[in-house]
Amino acid sequence: MNILNLTIWEATELIKRKEVSSVEITEQLITEINNKDKELHSYISVNPHAVEEAKEMDEKIAKGEDPGALAGIPVAVKDNICVKGMPTTCASKMLENFYSPYNATVIEKIKEEGAIVLGKTNMDEFAFGSSTENSIFGSTRNPFDLQRVPGGSSGGSAAAVSARLCFSALGSDSGGSVRQPAAFCGVVGLKPTYGRVSRYGLVATASSLDQIGFFTKDVRDAAIMMNVVSGQDEKDSTSVDIDVPDYTTFLDKDAKNLKIGIPDKDLVSDIDSRIKERVAESIEKLRDAGMTVKTIPLPHAEYGMAVYNILVSAESLSNLARFDGVKYGFRSEDYTELYQMYANTRGAGLGPEVKRRIMLGACMLSVDYYEPFYLKAKKIRTLIKKDFTEAFKEVDVIITPTTTELPFRFGEKSEPLKMYLSDIFTANVNLAGLPAVSIPAGFIDKLPVGLQIIAPHFREDRIIGMASFIERCLKGG
Ligand code: GLN
Repeated sequence: MNILNLTIWEATELIKRKEVSSVEITEQLITEINNKDKELHSYISVNPHAVEEAKEMDEKIAKGEDPGALAGIPVAVKDNICVKGMPTTCASKMLENFYSPYNATVIEKIKEEGAIVLGKTNMDEFAFGSSTENSIFGSTRNPFDLQRVPGGSSGGSAAAVSARLCFSALGSDSGGSVRQPAAFCGVVGLKPTYGRVSRYGLVATASSLDQIGFFTKDVRDAAIMMNVVSGQDEKDSTSVDIDVPDYTTFLDKDAKNLKIGIPDKDLVSDIDSRIKERVAESIEKLRDAGMTVKTIPLPHAEYGMAVYNILVSAESLSNLARFDGVKYGFRSEDYTELYQMYANTRGAGLGPEVKRRIMLGACMLSVDYYEPFYLKAKKIRTLIKKDFTEAFKEVDVIITPTTTELPFRFGEKSEPLKMYLSDIFTANVNLAGLPAVSIPAGFIDKLPVGLQIIAPHFREDRIIGMASFIERCLKGG
């Protein structure tokens, strides 16, 4: 048995029964990372204290203390989430040498439940991108085909879980950055409701859309991670005080009474027909299993990408203003006066995609464009939200493909607009603040396909119930 193939729930059982130790697992993973990650490049840094921390966990277990739900399990963390004493680079020259002085709330939470932070994973610079090609450290590769991208922006986290280089990984999702790489790497990727999980310690880009999520090998592990990371946090005023149920109680239930909604028309013309067919086949299987499937209108979703790009750029413009050479990280040495220092620091410290978003944001918020673009986008966002509210009066969950295409080759999407348009299924969900998951739905040409399940606000219980049902159905169980 290779322990690294186990899920969290299988491995914690063995650790608690002292049949394997957290040190053994952590050491094995570090060896694997040293060997395999040279070509995959899913990690930016590995925690030099991981084995020490695992040892402490084993000692706790030996003393009979409760090790928590993630007892000694190594977890990877996207490099835009702060871990005390470790680099938090956002894959940017701007933060290349920045070490975080504190832990994000999610890090406190996973540690309280016994997790070992194994390392920080690669990403698109400041989480802008869908391919992890925009990293100053170089791209991550897709474990299923090294010539292809792992998706993004949390591509390192997705690839690390998929290649068995950690048991679970945290990511962030403002427009699909957890779900799209999960689909591309054949793993489960869940983005909770906006407000369900604290974002304290996540480097902000688009504050009204950003959400921390995670990757796991299966749905049961996703339920465990949901239990651990959810809940209100006084340090994040957008986190909401709503009870956190035990999500594992929604697994293995008969979900047949849940009504499924599918959009009544294609949200975009440019979708790989094989993906469409694959998702339709999966839905057929659910119908065969006795579920009700209903088409629902989402009349404004087709404007989602335009709205998303305007809002992301505008919000990023203000959030990224803090990287000015004074407060954090990199400062250019090439200056004689203050303004020149700002300009040269940002000029040399930020990559082309980040600059593109900042410039677009400045344009969208300028006197002439504010009303016709920014304000209009906010209004359409309200309509998109309303569409979902109406749909959820008729159905319990909505199912769509996660992506419009299969994992593409490096460099294939060098035109930014092409890259932006591929987020249509995921970005609408962020605009509405809803929870959604991508789960594996088989393969096409040996490349993984993802199926997205969307639920109403704070109904991650339905996502877990439905996802575990589909997981069983698709496995034929
Ligand atoms: N691909 C999207 C973008 O580049 C999503 C990014 C994200 O979710 N962080 O904007």
